[in-house]
Amino acid sequence: MGFVYLSKSGSKYHLENCSTLKDTKIKTKLTDAITAGKSPCSVCNPPLLKEIEKSKIYSQQNIYRVNMESLKSYANADITRMLPAKVIRHIDGDTVELQFENPPSIIKKTEKIRMIGVDTPETLHPKKEVQYFGKEASDFTKKRLLNKDVFIALDWDTRDKYDRLLAYIYMNDGSCHNAELIKNGFAAAYTHFPFQFLDEFRLLEKQAKAGNRGLWGGNRQESKKQG
Ligand SMILES: [Zn+2]
Repeated sequence: MGFVYLSKSGSKYHLENCSTLKDTKIKTKLTDAITAGKSPCSVCNPPLLKEIEKSKIYSQQNIYRVNMESLKSYANADITRMLPAKVIRHIDGDTVELQFENPPSIIKKTEKIRMIGVDTPETLHPKKEVQYFGKEASDFTKKRLLNKDVFIALDWDTRDKYDRLLAYIYMNDGSCHNAELIKNGFAAAYTHFPFQFLDEFRLLEKQAKAGNRGLWGGNRQESKKQG
């Protein structure tokens, strides 16, 4: 079994000679680093754990992953097996901050969540203007999620490069917020990375477009003409 190196407080694991590792190098088993929620450094490219080993750790940790369940539809997910959480901060249409009561070790007590498979119009980019329907998408998420108790399901990848947790957010009534965003035209399907419900989310987007919902609505054409 391979060994990797950790700094005292960082969220990454490294090779021994990594340039980003300074004074402290804590030698750790690769499996222990993964169990502790560390992700591979993008500078030194340390070894990755085999999927099968990872899935063992995840199943010990009791994290509900839609890919491991081989779910065919987001609507078949089982919220009783998901991690409960509370939405403590709204950031934008597809990003919120959650608090977990008693999370397994790979999840922190508070986490920024990037919702899997959706892309809402930009509202916060420092150099870009607020995009068409960005405010509406952001408000939709705020209204539905802020201060609510929700349930979290994961998929293939646990985190993005900004260390945000990649998740589906389910409500008490069993609805999936990621899917609701696309259905109602508040988001496009984000298909640059594979995820379990990719085909289904694409179809939802197609239907939202056909129905001229939200950001696919008539105003969009007009603002294009004017611009
Ligand atoms: Zn490194």
